[in-house]
Amino acid sequence: MSQQTTFKGIKITTDNKCGFCDGAKCCTYITERLETPRSMHDFDHLLWQISHENIRIYKDDDGWYLLVESTCLHLENDGRCGIYNERPHVCRQHDNDYCEFDAPAEDGFDLYFHDYAQLTKYCKNRFKGWGKRFEKFAKEYE
Ligand code: SF4
Ligand code: SF4
Repeated sequence: MSQQTTFKGIKITTDNKCGFCDGAKCCTYITERLETPRSMHDFDHLLWQISHENIRIYKDDDGWYLLVESTCLHLENDGRCGIYNERPHVCRQHDNDYCEFDAPAEDGFDLYFHDYAQLTKYCKNRFKGWGKRFEKFAKEYE
């Protein structure tokens, strides 16, 4: 993936890049690591989660993640951080050398589920008896 090197004719460096980033993309979501889902129960649970507004699920080289699209309350209208000197460690660790400004995060995902329909399709392909899972679950609880 190539890095964006100019913006409107201006040379982009790591020092000025964030100033060109419309809406500070890295401050508009959070992620949380998930246990690797394996069973139909696991995926059924993910379907419940992704049924909620602004919830996405992805898998990359590090594993499975829940992604919540939600803008940080400290992000100011001019794109600056309102608590810059006290910002959390995870924010300090974020490197702008190659970031969401250069390419959408999805480009690095092995799997990306944007909504219930996409994840359902995946489950139907992954599990033969997906359509009958509730009968199976009911027997397990007998
Ligand atoms: S680190 Fe990248 S995504 Fe975040 S504000 Fe800077 S340029 Fe934008
Ligand atoms: S605390 Fe600041 S740097 Fe961290 S996500 Fe919020 S606005 Fe961005």
